[in-house]
Amino acid sequence: MSINDEKNLSDKEIEFYSRQIVLKDVGYNGQLKLKNAKVCLVGVGGLGCPIATQLIAMGIGYLRLIDRDVIELSNLQRQHLYSPKFIGYPKVEVASNRLKELNPYIRVDPFPISLHERNAEELLRGMDVVIDGLDSARARYAINRACIKLKIPYIHGSVITTFGNVSAIIPNETPCLECFYGDIKDEDLPTCATAGVHPSIIGIIASIQVSEVIRVILGEKPLLMNKLLHCDLQYMTFEEMNISRSESCLVCGQKPAAQSVPIKQELVEELCGRSGKRVYMVIPRETFEISMSDLNEFLRNNGFKIQVKANLGITFNNNKEITSSILKSGIAIVEGVENMNDVLDFYNKIIVDGLGIHQSHIK
Ligand SMILES: [Zn+2]
Repeated sequence: MSINDEKNLSDKEIEFYSRQIVLKDVGYNGQLKLKNAKVCLVGVGGLGCPIATQLIAMGIGYLRLIDRDVIELSNLQRQHLYSPKFIGYPKVEVASNRLKELNPYIRVDPFPISLHERNAEELLRGMDVVIDGLDSARARYAINRACIKLKIPYIHGSVITTFGNVSAIIPNETPCLECFYGDIKDEDLPTCATAGVHPSIIGIIASIQVSEVIRVILGEKPLLMNKLLHCDLQYMTFEEMNISRSESCLVCGQKPAAQSVPIKQELVEELCGRSGKRVYMVIPRETFEISMSDLNEFLRNNGFKIQVKANLGITFNNNKEITSSILKSGIAIVEGVENMNDVLDFYNKIIVDGLGIHQSHIK
């Protein structure tokens, strides 16, 4: 395998990618550009699975995967990198292993963390393109602000029910996300759990996003610059809306009306109904690294039953109603606890008292 040789394609690579090397827009040199490209995908759920699969199969040399979730049964209808045996595993870990099986000539770097305004620049710096497969406005705003600041092209996509949107955000050239999609609160948005999502629209939006990413890497202008494409399978419509920069945009405007307001990030978020029980996510202030073997030992010694022990996270229960996953970065998903205070008590007992992580990293 020649993933370390960045200047040439091996014979195997040429054969692997032969059906796209013959495309006049790609060619040998285009394929080398893909091999040398660094792409960050934020969110490896509905949109993220087909995006990652296509990018990897096309030979993007380095893919950074960021996701804070574990696999659930209700994901499998549309998230085809996963199967029932991986329920309870961190998505980035399973996705990364599967993608490396699909194409051994690439590198995948999994980050089991939550991207927010405090860590976005650190996570995205050095990337050639950023692409989102998210369902949260808050995280998209964090990506948008970091990409504008770092001057990284950002290919935005979203889906719900039977429709989806795509736009190519190129810093200093096109509107940023907050020029045309500002001030939206996650609490006001419909979710996949409540409104549903058709896998077909996911495939279409993901493919269009990938096509735009590839154009950026090959040095061509994305076709959805200054445009928002809206597709709806209920009516089989594909509509392009022209969008323009807002001079007063707080993020990219020449004459911002005010200073941009920091994106609010709570320590505990309630996630939308998974199985009728309340589900919370604890997102510590700082990313720290938990030793999975220390966590495993602590849980076993304290009467918890381990359901999944993966490299980047552990899913366990307390033999009663609480089921939880703790990821290597300190993120916890807790199901079956009544309120936010009880979630924090549960979390602190394991992370602070049990593993000795200092409180200052958390709040
Ligand atoms: Zn803007």
